[in-house]
Amino acid sequence: MAGKIDHKRMKNSNKAVILDLIRREGCSSRQEMIGQTSLSAGAVSMLVEELIADGWLVEEKTFPAPRQRTGSGRHRVPIKLNPGSAYIIGCEADSDRVEGILIDITEKKRGWCERLAADVFDAGQVIEHLQSIILCLLDKAPERDRVRGIAVSVPGYVDRDAGVGVQCSRVPGWRDIPVRRILEGRFGLPVEIDNTARMRALAETRYGLGQETRNLMYIHVGPGIGAGMIFGGRLFRGASGSGGEIGHMIISPHGPVCSCGNRGCLQAVASIPAIERKARETLHRDILTRMADLSEGNASSLHFPQIVQAAREGDKVALTLVEEAAVALGLSVTNTVHLLNPEVVVLGGPITLLGSLLLETVRRVVRTHAIWETSFALKIEMSCLEEDIGARGAAALGLETLLHTEFPNGVER
Ligand SMILES: [Zn+2]
Repeated sequence: MAGKIDHKRMKNSNKAVILDLIRREGCSSRQEMIGQTSLSAGAVSMLVEELIADGWLVEEKTFPAPRQRTGSGRHRVPIKLNPGSAYIIGCEADSDRVEGILIDITEKKRGWCERLAADVFDAGQVIEHLQSIILCLLDKAPERDRVRGIAVSVPGYVDRDAGVGVQCSRVPGWRDIPVRRILEGRFGLPVEIDNTARMRALAETRYGLGQETRNLMYIHVGPGIGAGMIFGGRLFRGASGSGGEIGHMIISPHGPVCSCGNRGCLQAVASIPAIERKARETLHRDILTRMADLSEGNASSLHFPQIVQAAREGDKVALTLVEEAAVALGLSVTNTVHLLNPEVVVLGGPITLLGSLLLETVRRVVRTHAIWETSFALKIEMSCLEEDIGARGAAALGLETLLHTEFPNGVER
């Protein structure tokens, strides 16, 4: 009996090796699989037959250009993932928007749906919109029963194991929300959740600046600040799933009060609301600045995009605000680089609107303060991914989970 179980486990693990290879390459032949894995010709042939019979793989007529193949025969037949074998829904929810993507197993976008808040979504609205978006994406799936899982990026603290959104101060009422139980109960599909920065870090490693590295830190700067950390190719979550709270790194003990109760956290100095608050204060103090024109003198209608515009136009007051946020971010990056020695640090979220205005200062601060041994090879960049990165990251996690469940011991999570 044990022999049978071991044989099945081994077979599944070998199937995972083949699927992983095809996911990386996009397309492969039996011969290439023999050359690129430790599997024998007989094993490859049998495993591929089974994966084709079960609908995961399909044979193609030709290899995609520009890849050239020589020779002919059964071993040269191009094989790829069957796009229709499985679909995954990935969502990202926050106080200002809820959005979702449908991808197929080849990670191609097959549908998109979003809801934008006129002001702020409360917890009930976030859950309501999540459900309507998932319904909308299920309708977009070519075969609804091939949708195999849902993954949701939620704001704030997350208890991933329990599937609960623990707390997020910017979403009114968002406390101990059993996201997984609600969505699994409604849709009958496996649901997993994680936080925004981690899902986005995952998206960077699959589609963005982290494709060539196994050690990346993604820092999300928006309404809050959080980090998603990938070390040795794996997401780091910490003992209780709260690792990456870089927003509460104290960088100025006498600085402004943070939502956590401490003073001078990075988030209280460099998040988008912190920058907006300081900009509005300058208007209240009647300081001469382009930001006053752009908001027509009304401090409460001054928002981040106008601050960015003023800074781009060379307004000194706006540039000083940007410099202060960039220095704070640079110091935090320096601290984390000393601790963790990542290869790439990616800044993402709404802060990327500032582009080089912010990035150059962050780089300069890190260059000035970081110990050479921890930073000589470090790259600090702005995320180049589209706005759908959060939902894409969630969907990528959902897909990894599906493959890990179907083919354990092979595809890394
Ligand atoms: Zn704090």
